[in-house]
Amino acid sequence: MYNWKESLMLTDKGYKDLKKAVAACTITNLSLMLPFTVTIQIFAELLKPMMAQEISWTKMWFLFGCGLISAVLVFLASKNDYKKTYVTSYLEAENSRISVAERIRKLPMSFFNSKDLSELTTNIMADCSTTEHVLSHIIPQLSANAISITIICVMMALFDWRMALSVFITVPVALLVILGSKKTQARLSEKQVEAKLKASDQVQEYLEGIKVIKACGLDGSKFSALDDALRLMKKMAIKMEFITGTFVTGAQMILQAGVGLTVFVGTYLLTGGSIELIPMLMFFVIVVRIYGPVLVEFTLLPELFYHRIATKRMRTLMAVPVMEGEGVKPLTHWNIDFENVSFGYNVDKSREDKVIKNLSVSIPSDAITALVGPSGCGKSTISRLIARFWDVNEGSVKIGGIDVKTLDPEHLMSYMSFVFQDVVLFNDTVYNNIRIGNMEATEEQVMEAAKAACCDEFISALPQGYETMLGENGSTLSGGERQRLSIARALLKNAPIVLLDEATASLDPENEALIQQAISRLIEGKTVIVIAHRLRTISGADKIIVLQEGRLAEEGTHEELMNNKGLYERLYRIQQESLGWSV
Ligand code: ADP
Repeated sequence: MYNWKESLMLTDKGYKDLKKAVAACTITNLSLMLPFTVTIQIFAELLKPMMAQEISWTKMWFLFGCGLISAVLVFLASKNDYKKTYVTSYLEAENSRISVAERIRKLPMSFFNSKDLSELTTNIMADCSTTEHVLSHIIPQLSANAISITIICVMMALFDWRMALSVFITVPVALLVILGSKKTQARLSEKQVEAKLKASDQVQEYLEGIKVIKACGLDGSKFSALDDALRLMKKMAIKMEFITGTFVTGAQMILQAGVGLTVFVGTYLLTGGSIELIPMLMFFVIVVRIYGPVLVEFTLLPELFYHRIATKRMRTLMAVPVMEGEGVKPLTHWNIDFENVSFGYNVDKSREDKVIKNLSVSIPSDAITALVGPSGCGKSTISRLIARFWDVNEGSVKIGGIDVKTLDPEHLMSYMSFVFQDVVLFNDTVYNNIRIGNMEATEEQVMEAAKAACCDEFISALPQGYETMLGENGSTLSGGERQRLSIARALLKNAPIVLLDEATASLDPENEALIQQAISRLIEGKTVIVIAHRLRTISGADKIIVLQEGRLAEEGTHEELMNNKGLYERLYRIQQESLGWSV
């Protein structure tokens, strides 16, 4: 039997609920036959004068009573059906959205490197919506219709198998047409999804680049990729509708031919004297009534084919291995050691692609260590390996003698604070954006951190102070203000290891001074790793690690390295000279 639980990626509860929904829908369908049967009985009674018989009014009143009772039963069945089908399926879809989001949170960064955001959004929202729709509107109705039609078919066959055969003979033929088109439809809908993804990618790129497009006065030609993507999406949608529509309409026509066939067989049997007029008329009414749900089934089936593609994508996502580690081994020492570490962003590629090559260095605890070197030499990569955003390919990164690979990434993260160049702010209040550093912090602590990070002044000048909503990614704040907010966050977290991407290069002197002040408060008594771009600012560091093309070039204090007359001394000299430049 087809495994719906597997196919729809349902939880045990979701599968149980689906079975209940099918049962509830079947009961509703069967209850709907009650008023129908009563109507037929009334109809037969009303036809009696044609047979020279009298209408029994007692029976008519009785039937009227039955009609009322059956209406109440239909109402109760539908209410139960609504609860079992819709409420539970939305609950299941909510659970599946949450579990996909949870999974994404635990995936290694290498996964995000190869995926773009619009694909992930489609995964979470659209695919879960498809499952939701299939669970609430398709499977229960489809199964219930199939069950009730079979029951009606058997009952009719017991009454008159020849008439029953003429009513139902077209159903399997029409069904074959729909099933035969399954592959074509699946192929087309896969292409349609691809076109949609491409279009949403292009729209995103267009919106992100709109400032540059305006600033550079670019015209229509720059939008041609977006135009093409949107045109392709329209073309695929029309093609899909046309093909699906052709098959569904074809199947419906075949099915409707059953009405003519029933009338023909009925009349033939009536003239031959092997069926009475009233039963024949009843079959005519039934044939029209029964084809309604079958026609609905035919339009639902293609959607059922489509859901398989959606769950295929979700299944691929759920199969990506998450980063694991033993939960909560408490770290007590903060010295960081790189032992023969090699790492490349694209693991499958050859050794030539390695960004870090056989690197062995030590970063002492409770001290400031600077990472320096030409752009692209691997400084940021080293900080990402310490935080286990990525796992090394060879060798190991140890904190206090414990390999970070054995630690649960979320637990490891609790020991680290980051201040990076690109600050991520959420569309929330200023207060909540700082509190993200430590959700347990009191209001007092949040304010204290904001003061220490020199944020208090600019926050007070905002229209609603700490309660001011920041726009998407804090676009209403200046670069320096965003940076100080992220320092306030880090201060609040008060983690023993601080990773700093020295980001003051592009700021004005006033902002720079404030940020330096905030940073010195943040790093007090911590194990600090600074990614340094301007060597002047880190000359007081306890240790300087100089990198070149992913290898250790030299290490030591500023004085030692200057005396060495190596790469550091050369870089330092070049930067000093450039300071004297003016325009
Ligand atoms: P630095 O911080 O010293 O400027 P990075 O560590 O950022 O250097 O980068 C080192 C190399 O790794 C560069 O060649 C860069 O192009 C590459 N790189 C950085 N991030 C990624 C990534 N997410 N995917 C692939 N390559 C990357």
